[in-house]
Amino acid sequence: MGLEEKLPNGIMLASVEKLVNWTRKSSLWPATFGLACCAIEMMTTGAPRYDLARFGMEVFRASPRQADLMIVAGRVTNKMAPVLRQIYDQMPEPRWVLAMGVCASSGGMFNNYAVVQGVDHVVPVDMYLPGCPPRPEMLIDAILKIHQKIMDEPLGAKRAALLAASGHRTELVPSSVHYGKPGSKSFRGPVDPSHRHQLTAGE
Ligand code: SF4
Repeated sequence: MGLEEKLPNGIMLASVEKLVNWTRKSSLWPATFGLACCAIEMMTTGAPRYDLARFGMEVFRASPRQADLMIVAGRVTNKMAPVLRQIYDQMPEPRWVLAMGVCASSGGMFNNYAVVQGVDHVVPVDMYLPGCPPRPEMLIDAILKIHQKIMDEPLGAKRAALLAASGHRTELVPSSVHYGKPGSKSFRGPVDPSHRHQLTAGE
């Protein structure tokens, strides 16, 4: 028997940590920042067909001071790296970085002196998204996984230390499994929940 059963209708209980994380993930504003061809797919993701507004994310901010998600869409040249770092430094905490496409994640096919071999040499990356270019569906899937990470983030240094000591890892489930309705036409994931993957960012 839980406390909720004793409460009158319309009252919900939640931890402050969950509430704060829910508000953060529900208003994740990306910085307006595109570097190469991947940026076209990112722009498409914000357009009506894919509709990032569903996640409270349609407002790509022109000022990094109003953004909390940096989507690195495209290859990062050595000349651009300090600019990218400056934009990252101007974003307020908490902030997240998504490396979109193989170029941003690892340099991709541009294995030469002009291109940074992975944007994680410049800023810390929370999520790597493979593909050349990744389709909008893939970007949305990566964004939903960042949402899962945000919902699992500890609030405060003591909670963070406790969770780290317990060896806790966020379970990142593919969106088709997490949100799909088994039996519906659009469902493509495995029906058996035991098929869920245990993934962490970067794997
Ligand atoms: S991953 Fe492909 S689409 Fe994206 S920036 Fe590199 S070459 Fe362009």
